[in-house]
This record gives sequence, C-alpha cells and structure tokens, in this order.
Amino acid sequence: MQWQATHGRNHLPWQQTRDPYRVWLSEIMLQQTQVSTVLGYYQRFLDAFPDVVSLAAASQDEVLALWSGLGYYSRARNLHRCAQAVVQEWGGAFPRTAEELATLPGIGRSTAGAIASFCFSERVPILDANVRRVLTRVLAFEADLAQARNERLLWEHAQQLCPTANLTEAMPRYTQGMMDLGASICVPRNPGCLVCPLQPACRAGRAGNPENYPVKTRKLKRSSASWWLLLGVDAKGQVWLRKRPGAGIWAGLYSPPVFESYAELQRFAHAHWSAADGAWRELPPFLHVLTHKDLHLHPVLVPVDKASGAIVSEAEDACWASAGIWDGLGLPAPVRKLLDSEFRR
Ligand code: SF4
Repeated sequence: MQWQATHGRNHLPWQQTRDPYRVWLSEIMLQQTQVSTVLGYYQRFLDAFPDVVSLAAASQDEVLALWSGLGYYSRARNLHRCAQAVVQEWGGAFPRTAEELATLPGIGRSTAGAIASFCFSERVPILDANVRRVLTRVLAFEADLAQARNERLLWEHAQQLCPTANLTEAMPRYTQGMMDLGASICVPRNPGCLVCPLQPACRAGRAGNPENYPVKTRKLKRSSASWWLLLGVDAKGQVWLRKRPGAGIWAGLYSPPVFESYAELQRFAHAHWSAADGAWRELPPFLHVLTHKDLHLHPVLVPVDKASGAIVSEAEDACWASAGIWDGLGLPAPVRKLLDSEFRR
C-alpha cells in the first residue's frame, strides 16, 4: 500500500471517484484493453451516458456505436443489460457487496471484487490476470489453475491476504496496488524483482523462477475461418450494411453481408442486385485476429444499380450508409477501417 501511494497510478479519471457507475464502466472497459485506449472511450461514454439510468434508457445500437473499436462486444451488450438490471431490479443504485454485484450481467467475481473494494471498501479480493500472476509468484503457487479446486484455493489465499484494518482507505489502496504491481513490475516476462516492494516476501522472486507462474495447462484452442464480405456500393458511394444476428462473432453490429465462400456471395449478389460480374473488384484480403479465431477477410466490391432492383435495401435492420451514417453505427473495427479507407469521401 505504501508503494502504491508513491509509485502506483493515482490520477486516472476513474480513480477520482467512488461512484460505482464510473468504477464499473472503467472495470468493464479495462478488461482486455489497455488504459491508454480506454481513456478516450471512457470519457465519450460518460458524456453520452452520465449515469446508469441514461445508459439503461439508450438503445443497444447507441451503446454498440460508442463501443465500436474497443472489441469484445459481448462486454458492451452485457454493459447495457447490466444497466437495465440495476435500474429495474435495484432501483437505479448498484448493490454494495461483491456477492450481489456478481449476480449482474457481465460482472464476474473479480470485477465484483474491484467495484466492492473501490467503492464500498468491502474486504474482498480481485483476481484478474495481473493479480493472479503476482499472487501465484509471491506464494509460489504451483497448483494447476486449469482445475477449479486450485482456482478456489487461490481465491481463499487472496481473501486471507486482504488488509484487516482501516478498510475504508486500505481496501481501495490495496486493490489498486495489486493491479499496478501486476501491470508495471510483476509483468509476464522479465519481471522487475529488484525494484519490487514484495521482493522480501516473494518465494518465486527469491527462487529466481517467477516466470514459472502462474501454472495453467489448458491452452486456448485457436481456429480460423475465411469470410467474404460483400461490399454493395451504389452510385452515390453508399455501402449496404445490415445488422448481424444477436449471437456469434460481431453480434448485433452492422457489417456488409458475410459469406463463407465466394460462390455464396455471388449467389446473393445476383439474386438481389442483378449485379453484372464484370464490374466487381476483389480488394486485398486481410487478417483479423480474434481471441480464439483468425478471420481471413476477403472484401468484394460490387457496384449496384439501385434502379435495377436493389430489393434488399428494404430489409429490416439494413441500410445504405455513407460515412456520416456509419460513423454513428456500431461496426466491427476491421469493417470500420475498411469502409473508411475505401469509401470515405
Ligand atoms: S519479486 Fe518479482 S516475482 Fe515476486 S512479486 Fe515482485 S516482481 Fe513479481
């Protein structure tokens, strides 16, 4: 805690408040995303939705549009559902214990611990990836965290190590200190043991083998897929976008229609747009990396003569969009980049 006060991060916008709405918003955004990226999104979100009631009242499209580019869109959908649950089930005030917070959509045990300790000084730990690394090293915790009982055991250790006095000040400081240590000193490769305040107590640091921790055997299975993106473009340079289904990759976001083969794309374009093959243009394919999947994207530009029967433009949740329109839609980051580079005029 002393180290946090002098060497930790103390000036981030969400640290200047104990408002659970702001702390929750920052915690969700910080999952899998760097602080420097979150800063801008956090402020734009607060400008648009200053409190949980305004966020709950927004449409999912508005929320996804503001989230656009942060990735992991299930976070945004859960954020919205969580705001609605807080308003409908908790009268607009976040519950004050980690146990209750963890019942809300998108709030796992660690995020619940962060909100409860930062905002309500509850004596509960967090165990995100950074803190997990610090703790397993300090304790030389060799058990495989792929097994649930070992994970539970680590939570118990984490609980016991929480401060026991002056919790109002101590809990937020301790929680932030653990996060900061994991983010800045006890990093995955070449941790800074020589300048670490935990060095005297750290078993892995003393043994000189911190990189052996944490132990987790299960590896993420990666897969890959190829998607063809049909960029139907009208004479005004507008692109046809439609909303994706509510589940799966890019759920609920707007995108050009996606097909698993060029032949499928062709069938769709011919069926709906009477588009002549001659004017089609295949743009350079590119790779988009998701957590579990490599997406090989193949954009195909198809000029559409709307007068010749562009019937799909009438479909629900679809539109012909120029830059001014797609700026306000929730788009997957690679699609936004593609549209901006090809069609922004
Ligand atoms: S001494 Fe090294 S391994 Fe131990 S907590 Fe500090 S940085 Fe991590």
